[in-house]
Amino acid sequence: MFTHWACFDCRKSFAKDESDVPRKCPECAKAMTDMGAYFEPPRRLNKKRWEVMKVLADYGYWFNTKDSKIYIQNRILQAKNPRVADVIERIELEKQRKINAE
Ligand SMILES: [Zn+2]
Repeated sequence: MFTHWACFDCRKSFAKDESDVPRKCPECAKAMTDMGAYFEPPRRLNKKRWEVMKVLADYGYWFNTKDSKIYIQNRILQAKNPRVADVIERIELEKQRKINAE
């Protein structure tokens, strides 16, 4: 099944098959991140949006399913163009919520 491999350095995404081994960026040869089939790559010049996507990836949020995409949009991103700091704050709140629910 195809997925979206993202290079956060080049701010590019490549639709390729899934792989257990991270695929390398065709441009800079660094390991890319599998962002999931439902990932919508931001425009290359939209640095802020790419930064937000990097934060999501670092915290383990990927767009593997339609549901995960909806969850990320509604619970984490919320706004159309959220600030990086706000996104991190909401991820931390979600973590707390999960800990408290256990
Ligand atoms: Zn690259």
